[in-house]
Amino acid sequence: MSYVCTKCENEVDIDPLGDKIICPHCSGRAVLKKRSEESNPVKAR
Ligand SMILES: [Zn+2]
Repeated sequence: MSYVCTKCENEVDIDPLGDKIICPHCSGRAVLKKRSEESNPVKAR
């Protein structure tokens, strides 16, 4: 699984089994799942 740190914007490779998601580059905990251009403006429902 590929994740992207929201702080340094580096790719973070983590174990999906692990509970903690920490960026090894900046030790930031803000990591987003890397998806193919997920740009949903508004989810109307
Ligand atoms: Zn980072």
